[in-house]
Amino acid sequence: MAEETIFSKIIRREIPSDIVYQDDSVTAFRDISPQAPTHILIIPNHLIPTVNDVTPEDEQVLGHMITVAAKIAQQEGIADDGYRLIMNCNRHGGQEVFHIHMHLVGGHHLGPMLAK
Ligand code: 5GP
Repeated sequence: MAEETIFSKIIRREIPSDIVYQDDSVTAFRDISPQAPTHILIIPNHLIPTVNDVTPEDEQVLGHMITVAAKIAQQEGIADDGYRLIMNCNRHGGQEVFHIHMHLVGGHHLGPMLAK
């Protein structure tokens, strides 16, 4: 069994966070250390540690995460100008929390996709 992270506590509302959307399968909340004017994390409610652990059974929730991201981008008023969806995996990807999450970042021009 994979170990729970702080994100499980956020899903269960055991620790405070700025939740912008939640349903039976996903939760979205503002990143504690925003890297852009809008920086929201969208996560599955069940624990998947990394993208490497995704199985075919997760395909529905992963697709739903994108639908929710698009809805939140509209709510945040950044849909037309655009935004970026990012999922980091393991050490080279810079993953720090081992409960998969999609970063929704936008609100200004984000520059090149990767730092050199
Ligand atoms: P990663 O580097 O794993 O892709 O991203 C983890 C993200 O989670 C970081 O952007 C970090 O700021 C955010 N984060 C870590 N702990 C917390 C927390 O307790 N609350 C919130 N809202 N965000 C967190």
